[in-house]
Amino acid sequence: MPMAKVWNKNYLPFTQDFEGTKIHIEPNHFIVMDFEKGRQFAGKYYPIEVDAGGQQKPESYKMIVVEPLGQNEMPAVEKMRCQACAFVANNKEELDNHITDNHVNLMLDKEEREKRKAKG
Ligand SMILES: [Zn+2]
Repeated sequence: MPMAKVWNKNYLPFTQDFEGTKIHIEPNHFIVMDFEKGRQFAGKYYPIEVDAGGQQKPESYKMIVVEPLGQNEMPAVEKMRCQACAFVANNKEELDNHITDNHVNLMLDKEEREKRKAKG
């Protein structure tokens, strides 16, 4: 089954319910989805919110781009993928920071946890 990178090209995080699941994509990051599902997600209507002046609020811009993900790209993507959620980092440092910020309490190794806390 072909897979896809589903990008959020906004500078703000994007979250939308899709087929009973809350899809969350960090700004300028992608998640991995089945290609067809990714296309359906991209095309799903997202309600526009406007501010008091009638301007569309930037957080309500849906800027989803679906890109095919080649089999050969998979190992690199897997390496940068958070094991606890759907987040895919752009590099190793970002992945470490993401884990420290979001999943430190899940880490069983207490020493490692303290080390990371002290660093941040
Ligand atoms: Zn995560």
